Amino acid sequence: MQAVLTVDLGAVAGNWRLLRDRAAPGAVAGVVKADGYGLGAAPVAGALLAAGCRHFFVAHLAEGVALRAAIGPGPLIAVLNGFAPGADEDAALLPVLNGLPDIAAWSAAARAAGRQLPALLHVDTGMARLGLAPAEVEALAADPSRLAGLDLRYVMTHLACADEPEHPLNRDQAARFAAARARLPAMPASFANSSGMFLGPDFASDLARPGCALYGINPTPGRPNSMRQAVRLAAPILQLREIPRGTTVGYGASWAAPRPTRIATVAAGYADGYLRSLSGRAAGILAGRPVPLVGRVSMDLITFDVTDVPGVAPGDLVELIGPGNTPDEVAERAGTIGYEILTSLGARYRREIR
Ligand code: PLP
Repeated sequence: MQAVLTVDLGAVAGNWRLLRDRAAPGAVAGVVKADGYGLGAAPVAGALLAAGCRHFFVAHLAEGVALRAAIGPGPLIAVLNGFAPGADEDAALLPVLNGLPDIAAWSAAARAAGRQLPALLHVDTGMARLGLAPAEVEALAADPSRLAGLDLRYVMTHLACADEPEHPLNRDQAARFAAARARLPAMPASFANSSGMFLGPDFASDLARPGCALYGINPTPGRPNSMRQAVRLAAPILQLREIPRGTTVGYGASWAAPRPTRIATVAAGYADGYLRSLSGRAAGILAGRPVPLVGRVSMDLITFDVTDVPGVAPGDLVELIGPGNTPDEVAERAGTIGYEILTSLGARYRREIR
């Protein structure tokens, strides 16, 4: 018996449409890195493509090559971490140029090829991870010929605190981005991630880059979630056992039954992304009712107290993540973020794509 991961592509496409309407007249990309945040990059991109999405972002070169094979020629696929000229196996991927060395390498490649090479430019405005530092922007302003041969489709930056609308860094990043753009050749801009799209007109751009909101994660934490849930993870009960009061369950004997208890042992564990930090802090949903997780999460098994649910049988499915137990809610119990819940999901499921 196997866990079932249901991916609702209609919900993903619906979330994209909602964001597209919000971003108009700007366009909206689909960020499908990390295998579409764990949902499957190829099916997700297929659904977004059918909805009208024409711009995709991945993190790694290999993700881009696989995505091109899945969606065919045409749509823009940008590789956020960049890659060396010629390394994309003719997949027509666009590198994100994250510093002067990237620019030098791609400009040289363009000159050697005798044609313009398309790319995106990334300006760091407050993340201090990737992207042109202020001195690098100034170096380009002083000598724009460094960009010779580059067909720059977008200049982009990435927000550090978009999920905290009042954070002063948001405004600072908007101002720094505007200042950097004024120093660079004119080109379209790509600014907001999911949460950034809800920050106001200063964060609008030619191309928004939402990821998490497509997959149902709340882009407006602390406010109601306007996104549809796209994932349901349910795992089957392998065994039921009656244990007397005082019996301990699982590794570390960390939980002892406070009363005669019916334990359901369910086929999922931390190897399936059901994080060990959920031990003692989560509940599943069984027959529409919450059932407390008891004992530690182990690699392949978890245990629930199902004493209060009548008529339970082996094979019944316990919902671990889903509409009644959203990735954001599970993340809060695990002390993490919904992104980590989704991208940790792993591969040991029967995947049902709808
Ligand atoms: N743009 C960049 C550069 C990113 O690294 C990410 C994801 O981390 C996104 C956009 C999408 O962000 P989110 O999932 O918060 O919408």
